[in-house]
Amino acid sequence: MAKNTKGQIGVTTENIFPVIKQFLYSDHEIFLRELVANAVDAEQKLKALASTGTLKGETGDLKVQVELDEKKKTLKIIDNGIGMTEEEVDRYINQIAFSSAGEFLEKYKDQTNIIGHFGLGFYSAFMVAKQVTIESLSWQEGAQGVKWTCDGTPEFTMGPCKKEDRGTVITLQLDDESAEEFGTKGKIRSLLDKYCKFMPVPVVFGKKTEWKDGKSVETDEDEVINSIEPIWTKAPSELKDEDYLNFYKALYPMDEEPMFWIHLNVDYPFTLTGVLYFPKIKERMAIDRNKIQLYCNQMFVTDHVDNIVPDFLTLLHGVIDSPDIPLNVSRSYLQSDANVKKISTYITKKVADRLEEIFKEQRAQFEEKWDNIKLFIEYGMLSDEKFCERAMDFALLKNTDGKYFCFEDYRKAIEGSQTDKDKKVVYLYATDTDAQWGDIQAAKNLGYDVLLMDCELDSHFVNMLEQKLKDARFARVDSDTPGNLIPKEDKVKPEMSDEDKKTLEELFKAALPEGAEYRVEPENLGQQAAPVQITQSEFMRRWREMSAMGGGMNFYGSMPQSYEVKVNMENPIIARIWADREGTSDLLRQVVDLALLGKGMLKGKALADFIERSEKLLG
Ligand code: ADP
Repeated sequence: MAKNTKGQIGVTTENIFPVIKQFLYSDHEIFLRELVANAVDAEQKLKALASTGTLKGETGDLKVQVELDEKKKTLKIIDNGIGMTEEEVDRYINQIAFSSAGEFLEKYKDQTNIIGHFGLGFYSAFMVAKQVTIESLSWQEGAQGVKWTCDGTPEFTMGPCKKEDRGTVITLQLDDESAEEFGTKGKIRSLLDKYCKFMPVPVVFGKKTEWKDGKSVETDEDEVINSIEPIWTKAPSELKDEDYLNFYKALYPMDEEPMFWIHLNVDYPFTLTGVLYFPKIKERMAIDRNKIQLYCNQMFVTDHVDNIVPDFLTLLHGVIDSPDIPLNVSRSYLQSDANVKKISTYITKKVADRLEEIFKEQRAQFEEKWDNIKLFIEYGMLSDEKFCERAMDFALLKNTDGKYFCFEDYRKAIEGSQTDKDKKVVYLYATDTDAQWGDIQAAKNLGYDVLLMDCELDSHFVNMLEQKLKDARFARVDSDTPGNLIPKEDKVKPEMSDEDKKTLEELFKAALPEGAEYRVEPENLGQQAAPVQITQSEFMRRWREMSAMGGGMNFYGSMPQSYEVKVNMENPIIARIWADREGTSDLLRQVVDLALLGKGMLKGKALADFIERSEKLLG
């Protein structure tokens, strides 16, 4: 047997290990993924050699084994892949791996947000180990085993060793701190579950257990922790709905069933596979956004895909696997990467395609699920121009009777009766069917249709639609008197002198509650219409709502509420009040309070006073 050689790893930094140990402090755990990934690679390379006939003989059962000795604080990663000769260990570990780890650290020392902390490879073992040993036997005929040991200084020992079976054993002697953190079977199991759950070669950790005589005992069968062919690696034609649902359950055991899914599968101009699910989304605030997992060739990288897919798509769940997403870069660089841009455009297009397909082919189902995907689609339309263009064809509007329409059909349905004098089609809507019940009925009685816009993004959405839809205007049912919501001709105002108008204003303002601003306006609304109607202008209300949601328009948000008080001069009660304006304070108060009551604005003492006054008037 040849003699051991000692050597110095070819790197200029005096001692790189302390740096490695400190680096990515919070993410030491990735060492396990890196080592298992190397082992998996070695198995895949062997498979490739076997398939070309270069490897004579059998590959045997290819698997990676992870073994933890809790007492000795050692962790072994064992594979039966291609192995390495001494010359290869020298080349790949001493020279290449180490210098590339050195380069990597040099470059990214100050950046802790490299995606998934890739690129450290084999040397990430030194983040947790005080000594690392490689024992390897190459697949090549007549190969001699090699053992390499390094104890955390740049010195290593390398020499021949006895190793009977092909492959590599990496042994980590965990340092005390890491033994504390990673030295239990439970912890290793959870790391394997996180990072290796879908790796393409079986990864074994311990033995399966079974219940016998009231306790759990080990069997002879290997416990394989991964599923080597997760559904995203299969062709959609091989899969049933059940397979997609089961996979979802495996990923998110606590979640409700998803509504739809999309199987992504592209290999040009970039490679990407995956399955994205539409969860039920009701409230934006309640959504967990980190539910898309990013994989690279079935190896888990991260569940923070926010720089890889457009923001609205982070509301989806599922898996994306692509070797073409650069992982050795900082997150901020990602968005400007050409491949990442293409990938994000592709996914957006696929999502739109799928929604359109369901809209066209399963309209009933689409309508049934609309309330749960509405927020996702509206958010997408508001934040992504391309998606918006597509969604204009399949997004739905729901009216207060619970009927759904696509934009085009809805316009056709209302155009006839809801076009105003300026040739604008007026889309009437309510945001709360209880609070606006009276106004909804009044609009319906005039033959109008009323939409329901009760989603948290709707004030922004309505604003956007006004710009997208040609000659359209949105008005909440209570933004004007019913007869004025869709004016067909210029109204004739009551003839009154400025002085009279001022008197009217003062008269009514005195009867209105404090804390808001009022604009008192004499109107001719007809004898049958209510004496006083209180409305809030569409414009003011909408900007207030948008600024309350954080739209940045705080100027409107901080202004006091302002209302329009329309006094119907044609109403007989108003005529009485006006004729006897000195002595009718009770009647005046009563009509004002009734108008306030209709809008849910009469509260507290004012309400109690109203009841008392009403009783008195009845008596
Ligand atoms: P990378 O995997 O990114 O190439 P690493 O530092 O992880 O970098 O590994 C360097 C090289 O060492 C690998 O490319 C491979 O050739 C070799 N290697 C590492 N682990 C194994 C193993 N378990 N079996 C065979 N070769 C290995």
